[in-house]
Amino acid sequence: MNDQARHQYPYGTAAYDRIQAFRALSDDPHNLTRLYLSPAHAKAIDLLQSMMKEVGCDDVTVDALGTVTGRYDGTEANPKSLLIGSHIDTVVDAGAYDGTLGVVAGLGVIAFLKQKQIRYPFTIEIVAFGDEENVRFPSHLSSSRALAGTFDPLILEARDAHGISFKEALAHFNLKPEAIPSLKRDPASLLGYLEVHIEQGPVLQHENLPLGIVTSINGASRRGVTLKGVAGHAGTVPMALRKDPLAGFVEMAASLETIAGRYADAVATIGRIEVHPNAINVIPGQVFFTLDMRGPDDADRKQLVDTIEAHCLAVAKKRHLEIQIDPYYDAPACLCNLSLQSFMETALQSHNLPVFYLPSGAGHDAMAMADLCPVAMLFVRCKDGISHNPAEYCSVEDMDHAISVLIKTVQTMALKNHIETSEESR
Ligand SMILES: [Zn+2]
Repeated sequence: MNDQARHQYPYGTAAYDRIQAFRALSDDPHNLTRLYLSPAHAKAIDLLQSMMKEVGCDDVTVDALGTVTGRYDGTEANPKSLLIGSHIDTVVDAGAYDGTLGVVAGLGVIAFLKQKQIRYPFTIEIVAFGDEENVRFPSHLSSSRALAGTFDPLILEARDAHGISFKEALAHFNLKPEAIPSLKRDPASLLGYLEVHIEQGPVLQHENLPLGIVTSINGASRRGVTLKGVAGHAGTVPMALRKDPLAGFVEMAASLETIAGRYADAVATIGRIEVHPNAINVIPGQVFFTLDMRGPDDADRKQLVDTIEAHCLAVAKKRHLEIQIDPYYDAPACLCNLSLQSFMETALQSHNLPVFYLPSGAGHDAMAMADLCPVAMLFVRCKDGISHNPAEYCSVEDMDHAISVLIKTVQTMALKNHIETSEESR
């Protein structure tokens, strides 16, 4: 980066430098891999603690699940807290921005406030979760769930690929599982949770925009579909006498795009298909495929799922195929708080940036935090939509915009001093 860029984008430059420092902390010398409770995670916790002190946090702590919190005190007695954060664990062979950007964005806010000697009536806490990526253990968002009081203690017995249990990994970090229940925060003590995150998709780049306000984190439904027909000789059975489940699958799959297209921002994907016996001269006897359907609106997603299922049943009936649909996963959408979204909108406008809203197709810590307090997310443009990949990239300019907008969002919160938290606004 040249000196001009450093001068022009001071927040983005500071974020870039900090992200590079985290990028160097990996369990694999050949790529960035920083799994939960690994040696690299321990180093990242140490580095973050020193960064938090350096930018001016009044207190820095590590909780019983390894979450690092940097507190910047408010002016009132017993002030409420605004949480800003994301995660510092990564996937295997990861990009440097996923998660870490949200944490260093929080550091940028504290650095700004400390330098300008600004204190608000509320406390600001930067939180860096450790277990977001769902890679090492079959847990997901356990560090943020602990704050929300939704941590599942059964996960303590789960083991990683090397046979080390979650509980043993905590012990290696000198962390005490018995303290986990006490991590639950009182919702009355919190104003909300803000998360800046790389978009991990191509929408903002397509719209030629640096930032977008997240409306909701999509709900998801998954189905396994098994179709049974009659296997037979590819040469001897006439077309009219076949019960071919693969031909039935093709008819089902062909309608997926049209059906999903009827619902705003909904997506439907067939990611896996298995054909039996999968031989060139045999009419298949059985086909299994998966359906993954997501959307920001739960009622729309339910209708989408119902319509696709009804279509599959109708095709199977017409073709005299046996069909079994296994509903193995349904999770509701997580709505971002409308007041917090409007503060972000004000912040974008004050920086002369276009206001753009989009749903999140991927899960985030904000999903778990939504059980605790109002949440909002700001997405940052992601080059070519590539994420979970070393090629993941956010420009210094875009990160600079994101941190400026985050600072302004916090300022706006301090001015408005009220967050609507009724059901409609969540
Ligand atoms: Zn992430």
